[in-house]
Amino acid sequence: QSMDTLSSMANISGYKGVLLAAVELNRYFPMLMTAAGMVRPAKVFVIGAGVAGLQAIATARRLGANVVATDVRPEVKEQIESVGAKYVGIELKDSAAAGGGYAKELSEEDRQRQGQLLVAECAQSDVVVTTALIGGVFAPRLLTADTVKSMKPGSVIVDLGAEGGGNCELSKPGETVHIGGVTILAPLNVPATMPFHASLLFSRNLTAFIQAFTKDKAFHLDFNDDIQQGALITHDGEVRHARARDAMLTRRN
Ligand code: NAD
Repeated sequence: QSMDTLSSMANISGYKGVLLAAVELNRYFPMLMTAAGMVRPAKVFVIGAGVAGLQAIATARRLGANVVATDVRPEVKEQIESVGAKYVGIELKDSAAAGGGYAKELSEEDRQRQGQLLVAECAQSDVVVTTALIGGVFAPRLLTADTVKSMKPGSVIVDLGAEGGGNCELSKPGETVHIGGVTILAPLNVPATMPFHASLLFSRNLTAFIQAFTKDKAFHLDFNDDIQQGALITHDGEVRHARARDAMLTRRN
């Protein structure tokens, strides 16, 4: 974890994504008791509760919103509740856990049942933050044009899956669009908008990575170490990395 650059960057995306939504929204996040009467808290729905999603939940809670969240990996329910949100989800027919904390694509039947839940939750929400990815790269299309149509005018979607193609059918990666009174943000390279901590944490990740190759302050190779095995491409005139070896053989043929 100490050398996991993806986690460091995803944390920033989750945090900043909620701040972007708060700025765009035409109402308060927290509940307020004012002389002019009570203001109800905003309702935030977070889809995908990996690193970015859990940080989005925690940030929206700190701003005082009511937060509901969903994911497809079963172990996530407890994590969602531990950061102060209510979990919603469907009972999946087929497991969506792909191992290593990653999810795989849902079966057609589960996708349709999840779609109904998403429409119902989005229709009640002021802000929807989507962070769902398959294998850390590809964004499943979860919000259809009809889902967006069901949302209240003035509500805001922040599609943090934009880098992987977008979780919302109507997102335009890198742009903000307004459709039927709903604002859809699909920001790219969000960590670059917080360069101080992005660089600080990235450099700490790289330092931890380099330290995995040292012993007693000297460069030290250990072929039994998982990290080193996964990162070593060539050694002593030999290609040692399986994928690099495959790529080389394919090129030769
Ligand atoms: P990710 O960026 O791949 O995906 C984000 C989230 O989207 C995941 O929680 C995933 O389950 C969810 N998702 C996918 N399809 C969905 C759908 N149809 N509907 C709703 N949600 C959907 O994941 P991540 O944030 O990089 O990491 C997820 C987990 O992996 C975390 O628990 C994290 O601690 C762990 N992790 C593992 C490693 C490792 O070395 N294996 C590294 C970093 C993080």
